[in-house]
Amino acid sequence: MKKINLLGAGGSIGSQTVQVCRMLGIGIHSAAVKSGYKNLAELAREFSIKRLCVYDEEFAESLKKELGGFGAEILTGEKGLCELAADRSADITVNSVVGIAGLSPTVAALENGLDVALANKETLVAGGELVMGLAREKGRKIIPIDSEHSAIFQCLMALRGEQEGQLKGLILTASGGPFFGRSFDELERVTPEEALCHPNWQMGRKITVDSATMMNKGLELMEACHLFGLPPERVEIVIHRQSVVHSAVVLADNAVIAQLGLPDMKIPIQFALTYPERMPSLSGELSLTDYGSLTFEKPDVDTFVCLKAAAEAARTGGTAGAVVNGADERAVELFLSGKIGFNDIGRGVMGALENVPHQKDVTLDSVKAADRAAREYVDRFKNNDRQ
Ligand code: MG
Repeated sequence: MKKINLLGAGGSIGSQTVQVCRMLGIGIHSAAVKSGYKNLAELAREFSIKRLCVYDEEFAESLKKELGGFGAEILTGEKGLCELAADRSADITVNSVVGIAGLSPTVAALENGLDVALANKETLVAGGELVMGLAREKGRKIIPIDSEHSAIFQCLMALRGEQEGQLKGLILTASGGPFFGRSFDELERVTPEEALCHPNWQMGRKITVDSATMMNKGLELMEACHLFGLPPERVEIVIHRQSVVHSAVVLADNAVIAQLGLPDMKIPIQFALTYPERMPSLSGELSLTDYGSLTFEKPDVDTFVCLKAAAEAARTGGTAGAVVNGADERAVELFLSGKIGFNDIGRGVMGALENVPHQKDVTLDSVKAADRAAREYVDRFKNNDRQ
């Protein structure tokens, strides 16, 4: 039986990964959450998980109490997360940690010779050059869970690798989020509640706001460039409101191969765990005639400034990705707590890219420094704005 280390077990991807494990009889060797200790204790009992990590140390004691007589090792913080990520008693590490905190566990897993099923965007956005270099050096795989990258990965798998060298470009699809078609001025006053209402996907709060600003697609563009070794100008972003075509590859002869399915994360999660095998899944069958028509449009980069900033960062390389990512993470926090407006997210991200110095060398230290500087920039931006 296959076993996984599950980081980010309490989130949307984490809980759907648990559903997939339950259905396929996949074991969970170790599991980590940010703070949701009750959830983790329940999971530990169900899957007999003996190694647990609660990232926020203050909840360690509560977790211990919640576990009662169930004996398990409890780790905390970044160190604990990395230790679980690198635990070779499992066959693969699933990283669905939210935010930049997901980078070092990916590095720890690869360094210790484990493949990573990756749902944490920041790993590649901020540390792409470092992480891809490490995966190559250690001969390990990064199997994407994000639906678009999984789609591209599945297309390339379907080609059995034979034509991989003939990959000319990618078509990255985007739902457009809840504010598709609105103008920049119209978005000035939208509320967190409106931004948290995604038309197609059930996701966590950070990614749902990123989807509303289209930063999510910008982050995915950066990820795709790293994962599939293409420059950003070879990746076309296309608005596809129905989220049925999950992305496509363009080959040397201009043949296009796409992966389709219902918008259900359990398909890419499952494929990351069963790869290269296919198994029956919890997701429903796609009926194209139920949809009738599928639409494709160009994105509006003047309204969705984050997309423009991310494309610029992808062209710049180095720690520019870490800068836009850190700025966005902070700006989204401020937006969700009502401290800045919706369009301020884009202003903060673009401002950080233009003003925070970035470096060519991508190391854990240079990424952390860029991330910190970007967050500080956004905090200063917020304060200036309020004066
Ligand atoms: Mg996605």
